[in-house]
Amino acid sequence: MDFITTAKRSRNMRAIKSSSNTTTEMRFRALLIRNRVAGWRVRPKNVLGCPDFYFSSRLVAVFVDGCFWHCCPKCGHTPKANRRYWTKKLEQNKQRDICINKLLRSQGIKLVRIWECELRAAPQSCLKRLLRTLDTVASPRKLHRIPDVLAAKFPRR
Ligand SMILES: [Zn+2]
Repeated sequence: MDFITTAKRSRNMRAIKSSSNTTTEMRFRALLIRNRVAGWRVRPKNVLGCPDFYFSSRLVAVFVDGCFWHCCPKCGHTPKANRRYWTKKLEQNKQRDICINKLLRSQGIKLVRIWECELRAAPQSCLKRLLRTLDTVASPRKLHRIPDVLAAKFPRR
């Protein structure tokens, strides 16, 4: 299995770090544009965890996760060289994702996490998942109507 030399592997690692997630993000961005999905921003600094895409009017955050860096259960792996370093590093990434998920949810933000491999193999199902999430979230206009309903139920004296 281990036919790659260490030098080549570290070159691979650098390649993964520098380009893989950018490519995945660009692929998802193209998917949104092609399907005329609007209302998103890329990596807004004011949103915790700086999601790859953010729909502010719907409070939906999308993360497009690289399989290696975010430990995809299907194709993530720990490199054999410097195993201890990588185990720790990847575990930290995983914990960070869990923490961000929790914090965003606690702010009422819905999450869509898409794996790099999933996006490559089935872009349409990734898109569907996003659209479903966007649909299930009440638009802010609807949210604003709720107090009126309550007001009607409990009129002021
Ligand atoms: Zn994967």
